Amino acid sequence: MRDTDNSNRRQFLTGSAAVATAACVSTTARAQSPDYVIDPPDVVSMEIAGSDQRFPVRRVYCLGRNYRAHAIESGDNPDETPPFFFIKPRDAVTDYRKGFPYPPMTSELRYEGEMVVALHSGGSDIDPADALDHVFGYGVGLDMTRQDLQQVAQQLSRPWAISKSFDNSAPCGPLYPVATNGHAVDGRIWLSVNGEIRQDSDLSLQRWSVPEGIAILSRHYELAAGDIILTGTPENIGLVVPGDVINAGIDGLGEIEVVVT
Ligand code: MN
Repeated sequence: MRDTDNSNRRQFLTGSAAVATAACVSTTARAQSPDYVIDPPDVVSMEIAGSDQRFPVRRVYCLGRNYRAHAIESGDNPDETPPFFFIKPRDAVTDYRKGFPYPPMTSELRYEGEMVVALHSGGSDIDPADALDHVFGYGVGLDMTRQDLQQVAQQLSRPWAISKSFDNSAPCGPLYPVATNGHAVDGRIWLSVNGEIRQDSDLSLQRWSVPEGIAILSRHYELAAGDIILTGTPENIGLVVPGDVINAGIDGLGEIEVVVT
């Protein structure tokens, strides 16, 4: 009787193990090749300077009014009102070489030249002293804005989303890895339209430095590998129209040329 019990028990265990193994294989198979009802969205990724590898994008955070002079031109009192965050969808990030299609639903399209920070790790409540450890690299990007829709949103106390988070609204250049290029702490940040300088400032004038920005953002969101942060634009924002050519650059991070089409 005991032998039979043991035998049955062995059979049960064997059976369970077999089922468990099959379930595991099945789960693994599903994870590798899920039966999606539609084609999965493309992975959005950014070029890396000097490499064939690419940086996959998870989330796109943006800093608003992170330069004092721009905060003032936007109607803020920077002594009373700190910078703030908003978000763009990941697929707003495009390769600058593709140009920038003039978006629908606006007649006031604004350029904003910004530094991009890309994270290879993240977390919550990151200490400012540790924040730079999470940075993969830096680059140049544009925070294109439907200014007329933003003004309506501001007047009506509505969200900014449709003025900031539209398709293709963040043309970006390649990322320059910290491992080879170091951290971007200061240096000239500039933007021109049709060869005429419009924005000309320095990264050292950011109100929230990169480590401060990461630390403050990580109190509100859990940051992770693949997140990028557009760190705000200097003063002298302005409008562009189809046919305009925008150039933007940051010392040590190259220059991008974006044609408005
Ligand atoms: Mn901006």
